[in-house]
Amino acid sequence: MIDLLSLTLAELQQVLASYGMPAFRAKQIFHYVYQQFVFQWDQMTLLPKKDRIVLQEKLRIFIPPVLSTLASEDGTTIKLLLSLQDGHTVETVLMRHDYGNAICLSTQVGCAVNCSFCASAKNGFIRNLTVGEMTAQLLVFRAYVTPELHSIVLMGTGEPLLNYDAVLAFLRHIHEKETFYLGYRNMTLSTSGIVPKMYDLAKENIPLNLAISLHAPNDVLRRTIMPIADVYPLEDILKAADHYFSETHRKVTFEYILIRDVNCTTACATEVVRLFARKNVLINAIPINDNYDVGLYRPTTKMMQRFVRIVKNGGISITLRREMGSEIQAACGQLRIQREKVDSI
Ligand code: SAH
Repeated sequence: MIDLLSLTLAELQQVLASYGMPAFRAKQIFHYVYQQFVFQWDQMTLLPKKDRIVLQEKLRIFIPPVLSTLASEDGTTIKLLLSLQDGHTVETVLMRHDYGNAICLSTQVGCAVNCSFCASAKNGFIRNLTVGEMTAQLLVFRAYVTPELHSIVLMGTGEPLLNYDAVLAFLRHIHEKETFYLGYRNMTLSTSGIVPKMYDLAKENIPLNLAISLHAPNDVLRRTIMPIADVYPLEDILKAADHYFSETHRKVTFEYILIRDVNCTTACATEVVRLFARKNVLINAIPINDNYDVGLYRPTTKMMQRFVRIVKNGGISITLRREMGSEIQAACGQLRIQREKVDSI
């Protein structure tokens, strides 16, 4: 069966043509699905009944069932665990900001990158998500939680640049007028620093925001928490980031999880200043969600403020991210891992 949510309008028109249906039906179907959130063929009453019967057989509109929902006490963060067709699960998070709603999407089931602080990779990499499965994460939120959507961030489970083709096709898909009409400036792709793919991304000619998971100001320390640092040294990542900025004119953000006794020292802060001297970047410091399995914990507020102050005084833009959803384990894959633990008991 063809997965409708993976198709662009032009692709759907081609598929319909092969069934002898006119092209304008594709727009009608997209309107039902993306504007009205109608996911049953028999409810698309503008389509002739005989066409609906054919479509029912050939095209699947797979909306993943919600296995669990977690909302933070203040209601600003809602996290869903979705069940895919092959039984794997994926997490999606809605964050209500002052400027609007942002949805944090997963791009893979599991992750191969294996950063020590991140729950996503604990059971390894399983598979890439399809365009349809990424689209479905957005649709579930819009249809069942809130239709309002300001932006998306690819910061859920997975390394988006290791699922490059599907991720790019997905971003183009949700940019279309007939789907979500979301601007590229309202999309952020976060990467652990897959250098060759960062150069590819710069060539795509789309003004996408790029976020880079830095987490340490030198390779020696970075390698201890991010094995990918063995493959791509910081110098190459920074060069690729500069290149991305010069090609796209989009400011690059660096994410820096603050981990007690690991990367939050005065020496680390000073090194961050040196690393980014005279560069036009923004550092997004994020208090780690404690990871008891590997013994990584949040620094005290005082330590975090000291880190931020030193970087700021060094002339670098830095914000300390307001924590969202730590009580519902919003960070990367923690809900999915919990579920798998329960399943395997
Ligand atoms: N693979 C991509 C996208 C995954 S999102 C990447 O590495 O960028 C990665 C982001 O999730 C991190 O930069 C961080 O902002 C957040 N994150 C992951 N684990 C976390 C944890 N334990 N606590 C807080 N934030 C975490």
